[in-house]
Amino acid sequence: MPGGTVSEDRRGTSSSTFRAAHPAPHDRKNIALHKQNVADAYADVRWRAPELVAAFLDHPAPFFDPLTTVRVPSWSRGRVVLLGDAAAATALLGDGSSMAMAGAYALAEELAAHPGDHVRAFAAYESRLRREVGPRQRRVGLLSRFMVPRTRPGLAVRNATGRAVARTNRAASREAAHANR
Ligand SMILES: Cc1cc2nc3c(=O)[nH]c(=O)nc-3n(C[C@H](O)[C@H](O)[C@H](O)COP(=O)(O)OP(=O)(O)OC[C@H]3O[C@@H](n4cnc5c(N)ncnc54)[C@H](O)[C@@H]3O)c2cc1C
Repeated sequence: MPGGTVSEDRRGTSSSTFRAAHPAPHDRKNIALHKQNVADAYADVRWRAPELVAAFLDHPAPFFDPLTTVRVPSWSRGRVVLLGDAAAATALLGDGSSMAMAGAYALAEELAAHPGDHVRAFAAYESRLRREVGPRQRRVGLLSRFMVPRTRPGLAVRNATGRAVARTNRAASREAAHANR
């Protein structure tokens, strides 16, 4: 659907993403509101959406979260330093865990390289990580427009690309399985 997605993988795990027309401040605990948002967003969608939405509405604690990008001008103050999502979440790219671990590793290295000088260590860590995070954050807007397009031609491009990527991945898996025999 334009402005939203519904997907299900081969194991039956389903997920959906939609653009909120009027994003309200997110209240993590307001499950009734999450359910209302999902029911409204998918009210007119067919395919398997009705049964997936019904399962979501029926669940006592369904997962619902805004896709967030965190941009903080400085990652440290005094002896406190931000890592991972707290410093620079880039939801949608799917590598937040890797970036959080890379950040922790870089911070540990810089603290070891600047014994007794956390100010220089924090600055060196931030400058290293920002080189990785900056380009990712610049791609997020483009990627979200690609992944959740608002128009039917945009949907066609997204779906064709998804199918091509899936075909390439399947071919690569077959080749790897063949090579390992
Ligand atoms: C649906 C979904 C799918 C994802 N898929 C992927 C994926 O495939 N690959 C990938 O690399 N990344 C993925 N991510 C992103 C990834 O989960 C995060 O980027 C990563 O967990 C960030 O790690 P973190 O340590 O910075 O934060 P978190 O993992 O969020 O850890 C923060 C911790 O702090 C705790 N906390 C919060 N407030 C307080 C407080 N006041 N006092 C004490 N503790 C507190 C929290 O309970 C939590 O345990 C996904 C995220 C989501 C939501």
